[in-house]
Amino acid sequence: MEMTAYTYEVIMREIDRLLLFYPFLEKTAIGSSVMGKEIPALKLGNGSRQVCYSGAFHANEWITIPVLLQFVEAYAQAVAAGEALYGTDARSLYQQVTLYVIPVVNPDGVDLVTGALTEGAYYEQARQIGAAYPEIPFPDGWKANIEGVDLNLQFPADWELAREIKFSQGYRTPAPRDYVGEAPLSAPESRAVYEFTIAHDFSLILAYHTQGEVIYWKYKDLEPADSRRIAEHFSAVSGYAMEDTPYASGNAGYKDWFILQFDRPGYTIEAGYGENPLPIQQFPEIYARNTGILTGGMTEILQNPVEN
Ligand SMILES: [Zn+2]
Repeated sequence: MEMTAYTYEVIMREIDRLLLFYPFLEKTAIGSSVMGKEIPALKLGNGSRQVCYSGAFHANEWITIPVLLQFVEAYAQAVAAGEALYGTDARSLYQQVTLYVIPVVNPDGVDLVTGALTEGAYYEQARQIGAAYPEIPFPDGWKANIEGVDLNLQFPADWELAREIKFSQGYRTPAPRDYVGEAPLSAPESRAVYEFTIAHDFSLILAYHTQGEVIYWKYKDLEPADSRRIAEHFSAVSGYAMEDTPYASGNAGYKDWFILQFDRPGYTIEAGYGENPLPIQQFPEIYARNTGILTGGMTEILQNPVEN
């Protein structure tokens, strides 16, 4: 991976390179961003069990993008060479599981934070939104999509309660973070993830974020079958702690909705520690801490005794 800011241009160049090197890797588009950028998904594997990993819901958490792309490359390389993927036979995994990776849910926001977007009507609108929240650094504190909607507060899992909580915290209008939007799934990026998820049959999802080195694994008191065991495995291989989602951010997230809707294991992985955006220099350590989780999302679901 390049030790550089993952602008949309860099992301698509990396994906094109991977597609060229590994012809069995497939790319689809799950939808488009507000500014019309294609939101890509990569597909790897032929198995009947499907899992989905996603990253960069939040603009200033873009370091999750190279984490996911590096894993795709490691997996593809292991399949091509007939080698092990972090201790697991890659070709066997490939036949049993189909992995989908959505490296960047929020491409417009990522371009804003990485400095790739510095002019034009959308930039000006974002700058004005930011000016209404002067306590949040611009653009470094920007988590939302380019129109100021937090893409991880958009899912139909007690969205009204999320709105009530965030309104009471002062986020009543488009904002750099924490604005829930006018309605569930009103942002095209969240809707794309929702529809892609509905259209598949995922046994497990991982949603990558970057704050605090913890694993959020429940929605309220809902605990899908086998989700605790898998969370314990993730915690053991990463050193990240299992935690309950804090009350104020415990609704309307992607993993919340996934658990509520499907009663299957869904996880928010908070990789890394420090102030977002985390410097790219943290990438090697974050990646090393997460190879066990990324591999385990596939191997552990095969151990799930529950017939989904
Ligand atoms: Zn986040």
